Amino acid sequence: MLHMEKIVAYLNGLDYNILVVILMTIFFSLERLLNSPHKFDKRVPHLLNNMILGSVFILMNLVVASVQVSILQWGDAKQLGLFYHVELPFWLKIVIGIAILDMSSYWMHRLSHRYPLLWRLHRVHHSDTTMDSSSYFRTHPFEAWTFNMINVFATLIIGADTTILFFYFVFLLPFLIIEHANIVLPAWMDRTFGKIFTTPNLHKVHHHRDQYYTDSNYADVFILWDRLFGTYKYVPVKDISYGLNEFDEPKKQTFWYLLITPFLNLKRINKAEKITS
Ligand SMILES: [Zn+2]
Ligand SMILES: [Zn+2]
Repeated sequence: MLHMEKIVAYLNGLDYNILVVILMTIFFSLERLLNSPHKFDKRVPHLLNNMILGSVFILMNLVVASVQVSILQWGDAKQLGLFYHVELPFWLKIVIGIAILDMSSYWMHRLSHRYPLLWRLHRVHHSDTTMDSSSYFRTHPFEAWTFNMINVFATLIIGADTTILFFYFVFLLPFLIIEHANIVLPAWMDRTFGKIFTTPNLHKVHHHRDQYYTDSNYADVFILWDRLFGTYKYVPVKDISYGLNEFDEPKKQTFWYLLITPFLNLKRINKAEKITS
C-alpha cells in the first residue's frame, strides 16, 4: 500500500509540460538517428508549424483547464458518480478510470469523423501530409477542448477525481507521441501489443487519405474499442499515403490556414491517391 501511495505522490508531482518536452526530444532525436519509414524534407518547418498550433492550445488552455478543474471539484463536493457508491481499491479505480476515459475519447473521435461540424475541427489533425512525433501537436485548439470536456464529463459520471484524470493524461501522452513517430517498429509489436493497445502502425492506418481507412482505428490507447465496436482495420505502413486530398496545396499546410480552416467550406475529396497537379 505504501508503494501505491509513493507512486501516486510521484505521479502527482510530475509536470505535464516537462513530460511533453522530454518525450518529444527523445522521439524527434530517434527519428533523426534511426531509419525512418517515411522520408520527407523540411522537417524543421514542419515541426515549428505543428509546435505553434500546440502552443496556441497550451496558452488558451490556461483558462479552460481552470474551468475544468472547477467542474470536477464541484462533482467531488457533491459526491457525484459511480466511484462514490462502490467500494474499490484505488489502483482498480485508476485502471477502470483510464479504460472508461479512453472509451469516451474513442466515441468522441468516432463522432468527429461522422458529423461535419466536428470534422471541420478534426480535419486539422488529419491534414498532415507527412508524419512524425510532432504530428501529435497538430490539433485545432477548439478540438482539444471538445475532447478534454468529454473526458471531464466521463470523469464526473464515473466519480473519478482530478488525480485519476491526470493519471489518464500521463498514461495517454506516450501513446500519442509514439503513435505518430516516424520510426520503424518491429512487426511482432502489432502481433502482440496490437491485440490490446494502439500501436504506431495501427494509428498510422487512421491517417491514410483513403477514407475507408481514415474512418478506422479511432482508439488512442486501447485498440480493443475498435475491435469491439467494429472499426478495426489494417494496412501495411508502406502502403499508406498520409493527409487529406483537400489539404495538399502548400498554402493549406500553414499555421494560419489550419487555424481558420474550421470556418471555411472545404469539400471532402475522397480518393485513395495523392493529388499531384
Ligand atoms: Zn481522426
Ligand atoms: Zn493521429
